[in-house]
Amino acid sequence: MECIFCRIVVGELPSDTLYQDDEVMAFRDINPLAPTHVLIIPKRHIAFLSDLNDEEVSIVGHMAGVANKLARQEGIAEKGYRLVVSSGEEGGQVVPHLHMHLLGGRKLSDRLC
Ligand code: 5GP
Ligand code: ZN
Repeated sequence: MECIFCRIVVGELPSDTLYQDDEVMAFRDINPLAPTHVLIIPKRHIAFLSDLNDEEVSIVGHMAGVANKLARQEGIAEKGYRLVVSSGEEGGQVVPHLHMHLLGGRKLSDRLC
């Protein structure tokens, strides 16, 4: 298995896991860009957001719900936070396994990109 996030899902690679259920998993980013930087991923390998059809796209809502709960748990819900999903090369996606970034704990840049 080559996908690093799939390897994290099966426990082949270690991760600082904060949450998991049947469908999704959340763990701290190895190279945090903010005091809170968590990745929320589907356990099933889906490479890109753009791969999801109309039925499958509900997983992203589930991921956002998990991100909201983790934001409260991290104590950043009140002050605010950012969720980011990149898709594809020009979208800036480096790891080709769908993931949502939860970023917060400091004032984030007003610039989106
Ligand atoms: P992307 O740029 O694809 O949206 O984000 C990929 C993210 O995955 C990056 O923020 C990077 O630091 C993180 N990452 C890459 N490899 C690993 C790893 O092995 N473990 C963890 N926890 N995060 C990783
Ligand atoms: Zn994968």
